[in-house]
Amino acid sequence: MKFCCPTCGREEEIIADRNPLCLSCHVSMLPESDYSELWMSPYIAIRRMATISETVGIERARLDSQFKREREAWTTAVFALALHKLNGEQWWIEIETIDNTPDTKLRQLDQSSGNNVIQTRSVEVVDWEENVDDIMQVISKKCGRAYPSHYILLVNARNSGKALDFDKVIEEMKGKQSPFLEVWVVALVGPDDMKIVRVAPAALSIDLKLRSELEIAKKQMPFVERGTRGSGTEMRDLGPLYLPIPRRK
Ligand SMILES: [Zn+2]
Repeated sequence: MKFCCPTCGREEEIIADRNPLCLSCHVSMLPESDYSELWMSPYIAIRRMATISETVGIERARLDSQFKREREAWTTAVFALALHKLNGEQWWIEIETIDNTPDTKLRQLDQSSGNNVIQTRSVEVVDWEENVDDIMQVISKKCGRAYPSHYILLVNARNSGKALDFDKVIEEMKGKQSPFLEVWVVALVGPDDMKIVRVAPAALSIDLKLRSELEIAKKQMPFVERGTRGSGTEMRDLGPLYLPIPRRK
């Protein structure tokens, strides 16, 4: 099993010892975790993609199928930041590890009724790539498939070289049959500026300064697991976790 030292960051493959200490810092090392049932804060999901870019290079981080789930988590995290800016809601991102769909889930614990109720938004993520001229081609293809009606479609407009006319997309969506509850487009429009636009059913636009929103998001519990106490549901703060960068399968 892989372990990581929370102090110096040293990673080591350790077979026999379940609670190893770092040889240089003498603190307990963290065992490797995985995505199963794990809720990550938007800050963690966005930082994680930055770490992958720094480790393997921007091109591979952008294109390698090895990091598809991390890219989808990144797009979902930007969407979560937009929702937070819009109405103060705090969401965590869960990567789907068993089923083919949805790609990710937004999770939160709603205590407004006096009970703890888990709120979930199921999210399909699709990239609009350079080789596709019109974003509507990407959306139309997704809308042509059968998805449960509570799913949200998130389009990551990675195609920064091409013009994106949101008004035109919104207009074209009005005449389109869509299986999705909502369709949103996430686009980088400046070095630190993102635009998150709902293009269906009703237009809504949120502007984000990524760096300052991340500063706010940093305060959110980084890793949460849903737990149960008696018959109730609760959220457990897992503290720091060690999630190694995915290896090639
Ligand atoms: Zn150490």
